[in-house]
Amino acid sequence: MTFPSFDEATAALAATARAFHARGWAPATAGNYSAVLARDPLRLAVSASGSDKAALDASRFVTVDGEGRRLTGSGRPSDETALHLAVVAARGAGAVLHTHSIWGTVLSQEAPAGEVAITGLELLKALSGVTTHEHVERVPVVANTQDYTRLAASVSEALSVYPGCHGLLLRGHGLYAWGEDLAEARRHVEALEFLFEVVARMQGRT
Ligand SMILES: [Zn+2]
Repeated sequence: MTFPSFDEATAALAATARAFHARGWAPATAGNYSAVLARDPLRLAVSASGSDKAALDASRFVTVDGEGRRLTGSGRPSDETALHLAVVAARGAGAVLHTHSIWGTVLSQEAPAGEVAITGLELLKALSGVTTHEHVERVPVVANTQDYTRLAASVSEALSVYPGCHGLLLRGHGLYAWGEDLAEARRHVEALEFLFEVVARMQGRT
């Protein structure tokens, strides 16, 4: 596996962030985005805290190590960097994308049994390894908190309880999805956001 350079990764992440903002999946300063630049030792390009995602460009990214310490760039790494690192560690992801969409938030607020189960929909096949609409995608819902160290531990636990999931929801907050590279992560976000909207609308939430 070859990794992107900082410039390649941040240009692609910034373009993704602007596209997601335009879709209404990351209003205001919501959402954050990362890509692995190296594995050993880990180097992660991650968006800086508080950036307006409509205007996000490569200058608004920093490089952090496996502990979330900033190595290059200006600005503070996103407050949620620990969650990105938890996903990279658990899944070997090459890119992690985090959105704050309306439908993901709506579903997360009322998910029975701490998960959103999705089945019977063709777009499930956009998720890596899924070959039939009969697949049941179980998206774990993790309780939200402003204690990001605790939240990262909850994310790690959910990822071990749901080894097959392609994304997870933070309750009342948003989606984390990932992929082996940015293209796969982006496909997963687009598929899951579509599926969330279909499920919510089918439940009569218009
Ligand atoms: Zn967030």
